[in-house]
Amino acid sequence: MRAEIIAVGTELLLGQIVNTNAQYLSRGLAELGIDVYYQTVVGDNKRRLIEAIGIARGRADLLVFTGGLGPTQDDLTRDALAEYLGRGIELHEPTMDKIMKMFAGRGGAFIESNRRQALLVEGATPLRNDTGLAVGNALNADGTFYLLLPGPPREMKPMFDNDGSAWLREQLGPAYSLHSVMLKFAGIGESMLEDLLLDLIEAQQDPTIAPYAKEGEVAVRVSTKAASIEEAALKLEPTLVKIRDRTEAYLFAEEDVPIEAAVVRLLTAQQRTLALAESCTGGMVSELVTTVPGSAVVYRGGIVSYSNEVKMRQLGVSRELLEGDGAPGAISAETALAMAEGARSALDTDFALSVTGNAGPAAAEDKPVGLVYVGLAERGRETRVEKLQLSGDREGIRLRATKRALYMLWQ
Ligand code: ATP
Ligand code: MG
Repeated sequence: MRAEIIAVGTELLLGQIVNTNAQYLSRGLAELGIDVYYQTVVGDNKRRLIEAIGIARGRADLLVFTGGLGPTQDDLTRDALAEYLGRGIELHEPTMDKIMKMFAGRGGAFIESNRRQALLVEGATPLRNDTGLAVGNALNADGTFYLLLPGPPREMKPMFDNDGSAWLREQLGPAYSLHSVMLKFAGIGESMLEDLLLDLIEAQQDPTIAPYAKEGEVAVRVSTKAASIEEAALKLEPTLVKIRDRTEAYLFAEEDVPIEAAVVRLLTAQQRTLALAESCTGGMVSELVTTVPGSAVVYRGGIVSYSNEVKMRQLGVSRELLEGDGAPGAISAETALAMAEGARSALDTDFALSVTGNAGPAAAEDKPVGLVYVGLAERGRETRVEKLQLSGDREGIRLRATKRALYMLWQ
């Protein structure tokens, strides 16, 4: 099924509000397995609205409208669709009762224009509005589906998620529900991951394989349409096996969780504790770990050793390592190692991670931008250090360094 989203409102065209409804609906429709082919924005003008319906009708099977269901004269979506289809308008009594009750409760006089919010295009199924007054419309007219939703996001979202989605599922039949598995990776860039999976991605049909990259992590979504979870699992498994086989070293979760949450979960299960020593990330690793509820069980604390002074005083990194002619310097494997070991012994934990590097924009200690060392000290084991050459701007490098440091706990 091909869908088109039509956002109605002159405010959108004037740039006074952002079309967040289209984004929300695109995502929601994708989750239902419906492909959105177009997003249109049209002003509060009946002629142009009818024109937009005509165009959309020629290239999509489902038209999802948001906006223009309110009480005022510029709320025209319902009228435009009725006129386009040559249908009448009918009153939805339960909504009318609700509107009358609301006015009675407020003790004010009924304002006639509010009747408009209880109107349906002839033959439409009403969609409940729990957070406002205007009733939504769902309609199948000659094989084209129409969904009319209100403009205010706090009304549109619950209406789409509840009655709207239920109606769409009913029209599509059970065989069309989309099921997907999100595979999360760390320690690998998007292009390298795509390279590993290239033939699978190119040959994909069903299931589909879609790579994503966001916030220093990469993910692959594997999806199929199926009537039940069991059927979907059978269809997805062969593809998942192939992907797992090739990416084992980088795969840290088979659900949409960030690495910090996966780390907290892992350490909680192992009943082990973590400390941090951060230089160029300035506390970002600590910040991410503590966004995870329950992190207090495993995370003891960290030392933001931004200056050499603090690296020496708080972490016991030696002056010979940091300063003087021919010394490795703060951005070095030796320092990352000493920082991790210093934090682990200072905070008496099972693990300690360290990060030191140059996040840019200029070279430091003659070391290039993006050169980062991450270290992992572990009780009873030899400390490991990894050298990274990361790309991006300052924030990007810091975020990637943070994610890569956390990823060390997986290896
Ligand atoms: P109302 O009963 O409030 O008039 P309506 O269904 O007629 O609702 P509009 O008049 O088009 O909707 O828009 C009402 C408000 O909803 C806008 O002022 C804006 O704040 C929000 N809104 C409308 N369309 C969008 C959109 N596409 N994305 C985000 N917000 C929107
Ligand atoms: Mg309005």
